[in-house]
Amino acid sequence: PQNPGKYSRVMLKISGEALMGDQGYGLHPPTVARIAAEVKSVHDMGVEICMVIGGGNIFRGLQGSAQGMERATADYMGMLATVMNALAMQAALEAERIHTRVISAIRMDEVAEPYIRRRAVRHLEKKRVCIFAAGTGNPYFTTDTAATLRANEMNCEAIFKGTKVDGVYDKDPKKFPDAKRYDDVTYDEVLQKHLGVMDASAIALARDNDLPIIVFSLDEPGGFRGILAGTGTYTRVHG
Ligand code: UDP
Repeated sequence: PQNPGKYSRVMLKISGEALMGDQGYGLHPPTVARIAAEVKSVHDMGVEICMVIGGGNIFRGLQGSAQGMERATADYMGMLATVMNALAMQAALEAERIHTRVISAIRMDEVAEPYIRRRAVRHLEKKRVCIFAAGTGNPYFTTDTAATLRANEMNCEAIFKGTKVDGVYDKDPKKFPDAKRYDDVTYDEVLQKHLGVMDASAIALARDNDLPIIVFSLDEPGGFRGILAGTGTYTRVHG
């Protein structure tokens, strides 16, 4: 892939499932700690870091609504799940002596800061890791959309989407050994071929603002740092 160049501020998006390890549900503290150490290694390079963590390891709106709950209610529960994950990640980062702020799109002042754009930018300038919680604060959205929105607002140079595989493939490489990995792919191709990088609204929002998406494996130790240092395997989604 083409050298991603020097990044000074990035958004790291991970799913809630990334925090559950081999368990089928919830949080696996050693896994959270491992990811926190990966974040620390990038923080140590002087890169300013935003994070959005999903909530699927605890609650997903679509599943709740499939069980007869009103969609908006289920989505609010999903957003609250992301706050729990954000607090877990904050604790793990603090154990690494990294200053962090959890910034919630839904006000809960005893637990997290409210989202105030300029204040968040200031935290980043002071090298605090900003964990954006509660998604966009709106039902019918996802944390991929939230990550793209906040990345745009924070002027991040790219979204780093950590997954289980080292990039975007034409089919699931864990099921099909002949799956082909893309080095580079356009937003439109991702949408047309349903390549499953992020949901369509998130891809469109990235496309409209020329925000590259770097898809990489979070399971690869040192992978996040490696990409920022100019090595490693990943797919770059761009215009
Ligand atoms: N959610 C929402 N609005 C947002 C972000 C998230 O309603 O802006 C809800 C939605 O129900 C979603 C859940 O929160 O299913 C958890 O987020 P997501 O599914 O994106 O988590 P991930 O798959 O990344 O773990």
